Amino acid sequence: MIDGRRTTRRDDLPLTGSRRSRDSAGAVLRAVLDHGPIARSSVARATRLSAAAVSGVVGSLLERGLVREAPEAAGPPGIGRPHVPLDLPADGPAVIGVHIAVPRITVSLLDLRGRVVARAEEPHGRTDPASVIAAVAARITAIRRRHGARRRILGLGVASGGWVDSPHGTIVEHRALGWRDVPIAAALAEATGLPVRADNHSRALLRGELLFGEVAGRARESAVHLFVGNVVDVAFATGGAVHQGPRSASGAVAHLQVEGCREACSCGRVGCLQAAVSERVLIRRAMAAGLIDRPGIPALVEAAAAGSAGAAELLRERARLVGRAAALLLDLFDPEVLIVAEAGANQLPESLSTLRSEIAAWSSAGADVEHVVRPSSFPGAVLAVAGGAVALDQVFASPLDLEVRLRAS
Ligand SMILES: [Zn+2]
Repeated sequence: MIDGRRTTRRDDLPLTGSRRSRDSAGAVLRAVLDHGPIARSSVARATRLSAAAVSGVVGSLLERGLVREAPEAAGPPGIGRPHVPLDLPADGPAVIGVHIAVPRITVSLLDLRGRVVARAEEPHGRTDPASVIAAVAARITAIRRRHGARRRILGLGVASGGWVDSPHGTIVEHRALGWRDVPIAAALAEATGLPVRADNHSRALLRGELLFGEVAGRARESAVHLFVGNVVDVAFATGGAVHQGPRSASGAVAHLQVEGCREACSCGRVGCLQAAVSERVLIRRAMAAGLIDRPGIPALVEAAAAGSAGAAELLRERARLVGRAAALLLDLFDPEVLIVAEAGANQLPESLSTLRSEIAAWSSAGADVEHVVRPSSFPGAVLAVAGGAVALDQVFASPLDLEVRLRAS
């Protein structure tokens, strides 16, 4: 108490007790994600919970279809009680992910391991919030009609660039789309009836990396995630927790000044990193030079992979600019892993090695860039994974109290 006189009452304290019980279910579900098929006794060892606690939680998870017994993975029958291992159901409950990009929406269905079961992309007709939300809702209806009968949908995660206030479910500012204070979570909850959680897409993808990324174990120590698309932003996590910030504003790196860049930025200045490396600028240059005949970064990556020297050089140039920013991040955070989600570096070995050498040249941290700098674990699928990862993060945080957590504000 500030006045130091009144005795602290139970109601003054945060609800740590109930959170802990939810967390134990999350810990069990994460152990099954990491190690399944896994015996209950090993879950107890991995989570440091008692056998009785694990048994109780597993019962609730089985009831909700969030884990399944995997008798096919049991060892040969021996003396005593058989141990039927636990695993995640491959065709069980799922989440829906929505990504809102500058040119298009991506709506996807992800299973509990973060695998993309279905996805649909659609270029924006109009880019005002109401039109985009209506288009997203229509796509969700189509996906649920196709898959919802077989799979229970646990929730909906939304990811977008820009400033996203996750606790309030609001896109505070997305300059490239011209959006301000869009209550995206509430609007989609109303349109779909699903519990909705929204977050910035770099934080969303980092959540995915922490759950089921290729170096998830190391990333849970500490990780920085740099997203490069039409927008550029950063997320970081320590001890497995993604930093949100009191205003959900962390990770804005878009307007870092880049030497020699003359592109105008959506912020009104000239020479920002986001303007220098944005997909739109890159595609405009590639089309003008006749390197590709249809817009979109996949076309440019395909052209480079097919041997177009001009396309490869455009992507290398982007990798060099991204590398300078990434070197700064490496020095600033000294993370166990620095994950870069950039289409070229994620799909072309040459772009990745350009990125790594540029980081090595500009960083003074002396890190082993081959080890520390990693491409995204979701090459070619970052937009399909991002939104779903926001929902799955909530599933694995508190699987028994899911709806409450997804709706929390
Ligand atoms: Zn700018």
